[in-house]
Amino acid sequence: MKPPTKQVAVLGSTGSIGVSGLEVIGASNGRLQVIALSAHLQLDLLLAQAIEHSPRWVVATDRSAAEQFDWSALPKDTKLLIGPEALVEVVSQAEVDIVLAAIVGSAGLASIWAALEHKKTVALANKEALVMAGRLVTQLAKDHQAALLPVDSEHSAIFQALQAGRPSEVERLILTASGGPFREFTPFQLKQVTVAEALDHPVWNMGPKITVDSATMMNKALEIIEARWLFDIEAERISVAIHPQSVVHSMVEFVDGSVVAQLSPPDMRLPIQYALHYPERVPGVADRQDWSRSFSLEFLPPNTDRFPALELGFECARSGGSSGAVLNAANEAAVGAFLAGELHFTEIVPACRSVLEMHSFLSEPTLDQLLELDRWAREEVSRWVCA
Ligand code: MG
Repeated sequence: MKPPTKQVAVLGSTGSIGVSGLEVIGASNGRLQVIALSAHLQLDLLLAQAIEHSPRWVVATDRSAAEQFDWSALPKDTKLLIGPEALVEVVSQAEVDIVLAAIVGSAGLASIWAALEHKKTVALANKEALVMAGRLVTQLAKDHQAALLPVDSEHSAIFQALQAGRPSEVERLILTASGGPFREFTPFQLKQVTVAEALDHPVWNMGPKITVDSATMMNKALEIIEARWLFDIEAERISVAIHPQSVVHSMVEFVDGSVVAQLSPPDMRLPIQYALHYPERVPGVADRQDWSRSFSLEFLPPNTDRFPALELGFECARSGGSSGAVLNAANEAAVGAFLAGELHFTEIVPACRSVLEMHSFLSEPTLDQLLELDRWAREEVSRWVCA
């Protein structure tokens, strides 16, 4: 019997995860279908994707850009919806089976929340939702029996490796990190880093925000917090290993000392495909390891003096409460300021630490309190930038 087709809403379809997600869906032999697409500003690409995939809904979240755009080529059965609230409307529709949540930053939270409330499977590429509101989001998924599946390559690797044992047999999660382009830089060199250098990642081809996060290693800090909530494990049982080749995507150490890793060439299409087809494995488009040639894999401990973001990640994973939301917002604002030429590369992490230390910590914040702190932290960073 032919398995049923799963209907996928791809939110953030014009970003690098969204584009890879559409390739995975296109290569699924009809087992996955696009039911909705969304984008913020890249409307030419969104329209081209809509023409190719004929989804039921297309959401353009930036109202003024959407109202000025010529939609006349949109397929006639595709309905155009405008504004960020439309994301919530679309993910709530009965026909949607899976939401590929690939909107970057805190802007992705509301649609993830609505999808879980409507018992949808969420393939989570947006790490900020868990960083900001990990306790609330994982509780919501539990309450509604909605599956929350990782797309982040490290968390997908851990999710796969965890299947080698029982939860009680897990000793430690080891997140691997490429170390970014500045792994060997001296403090002086780091201070001089330009926007163009920070945007040139040696292994992964990603959007600007996450590329800068990789260079500061804030990306790994956010992933520590993401892992803490997604796998419900204390910060003390998470480690980071620098692994420049990005072939081992992360590991699980079990109580007997056995370490189970997931390996594959760096290609986001694999973790996306694993989440969209879960619990099945199917042939796909991702690059494969070439075992006919020699290659080596290196692992090094991270240099926490050079990359102070890591310690911030561990601190926020330990303290929980409101700290992840504040760190995430401060970082988004600081990266924005760096990209705008208003902040040095080496000031991003100190700006985050300073805002984090200033905030009035809440141990069990509500979503509204987290959103309020998110706004507050961004304002604090702009003050920090002007000072
Ligand atoms: Mg990652």
